[in-house]
Amino acid sequence: MRRDLIDILVCPLCKAELNLVVFKEEDDQVIEGRFDCKQCNTAFPIDDGIPNMLPPDLRD
Ligand SMILES: [Zn+2]
Repeated sequence: MRRDLIDILVCPLCKAELNLVVFKEEDDQVIEGRFDCKQCNTAFPIDDGIPNMLPPDLRD
């Protein structure tokens, strides 16, 4: 996913801003990483460039 997606994404739980933590990046794309909500501290993983914005309760 593109790094600047952080500007339009918000936490699906509380609508607060997210922090982007990058583990692996290629050609301006975030491959592996994590979004951390600044308010409720929920973490949303980014795997293979795809952010998983599902609340933890709905993940399998
Ligand atoms: Zn939140």
